[in-house]
Amino acid sequence: MARIIGGIAASHTPTIGFAVDRDKRHDPVWAPIFEAFGPVRQWIDERRPDVLLMVYNDHVTSFFFDHYSAFTLGVGERWDVADEGGGARELPAIEGHAALARHIGESLMTDEFDMSFFQDKPLDHGCFSPLSIMCPPVVAATDAQGPPAWPVRLVPLQMGVLQFPIPTARRCYRLGQALRRAIESYPEDLAVAVVATGGLSHQVHGERAGFNNPEWDARFLETFERDPERLAEMTQAEFAELGGLEGAEVIMWLTMRGALSAQVRRVHQTYYLPSMTGIATAIYENQAMPPVAGEVSRHRARMAEQLAGAERLTGTYPFDLGRSVRAYRLNRFLHRLIVPANRARFLADEAACLAASDLSETERELIARRDWRGLIHHGAIFFMLEKLGAVVGTSNLHIYAAMRGESLETFQKTRNAPGALYSVAGKDRAAPAWDATPPSASKAPA
Ligand code: FE
Repeated sequence: MARIIGGIAASHTPTIGFAVDRDKRHDPVWAPIFEAFGPVRQWIDERRPDVLLMVYNDHVTSFFFDHYSAFTLGVGERWDVADEGGGARELPAIEGHAALARHIGESLMTDEFDMSFFQDKPLDHGCFSPLSIMCPPVVAATDAQGPPAWPVRLVPLQMGVLQFPIPTARRCYRLGQALRRAIESYPEDLAVAVVATGGLSHQVHGERAGFNNPEWDARFLETFERDPERLAEMTQAEFAELGGLEGAEVIMWLTMRGALSAQVRRVHQTYYLPSMTGIATAIYENQAMPPVAGEVSRHRARMAEQLAGAERLTGTYPFDLGRSVRAYRLNRFLHRLIVPANRARFLADEAACLAASDLSETERELIARRDWRGLIHHGAIFFMLEKLGAVVGTSNLHIYAAMRGESLETFQKTRNAPGALYSVAGKDRAAPAWDATPPSASKAPA
């Protein structure tokens, strides 16, 4: 069974990554940062967590305001470093833990946290700034010539704390409590450390830019350790008044605290205010007792409840996180056909377009053969099929019939309006052969 071995708190200011990349460890201005993170690095070295679950916020790098979510869990298999304007830092991608992330996602949904999920998005300094100093990539002893690799795997949990409304401190704390249940019910024997990033006091915008409050930071650290419920009651304006508006991101720490036992053992804590942000590091060892009696089995049963029985529905394949991650490249290839230039390239030379893609041989063949049923079995979601259909001039009804293994004619006989054929194609395409109706006279069948 997976267990939470402790919580790590760390600021995620870009100065940390800057100091690491330019090796400023002997510069008196930067040395305290290295000293602060030294014990964290040592703790990770000694306790060897398999996975870091990292609660962080993206700084409008990979998550923009065209779709901004509150709680977003990274379910992908690997994580690249984001380019935040001046080129990405020279760090290798870090391996994810897709199976654990999937379990956590399912568990949080069961506990009525309506999560969003991401993959294929690079992570910015919110994650990699502290990561690069607390557990830097190393060359494996068994492979001295190999490239450096991260000593842990990462499950990122991104919080949208930059566009109000944002989750309340209370909600972040409760999410942590649900996270604990999620991790502790994962069957594999994994040691997980929950990392919370952000803060402490700082404000980086407006006339109040440069605001700090070391007294509040000290009080926050103390209250966080001993009586986090008090912090969970605070409003965002109260956090902003005491610690600066951007400093209010410390509500993310409460998710880590909620995942730990009520009593924790603090084994490390530092605070340093070099410039704009109070940089804190801390380690809290978990004092949790093992789950009692039927706690885990009851929870797992509840997690399974919603889809229990769906496996008996023949020809039915719920598009779950497992399929989504496994067939991600295939769905992404088909999704990109909504861009006119991409579908023009596809139509001009399909074989070349498929050959240049990152799809597997099987996936290329499934598309080339228009194997609609095979595509579904492989993990494509139907709504990508209808896009491909629109591009190549196949109606939705042709696709439905093919998935059933029937001729169009046989399938159409089962419909109330057997003559109704349609697709999601818009004005781009000339009327396909199956559509005899001139556009002005056509009526969209429902
Ligand atoms: Fe931040």
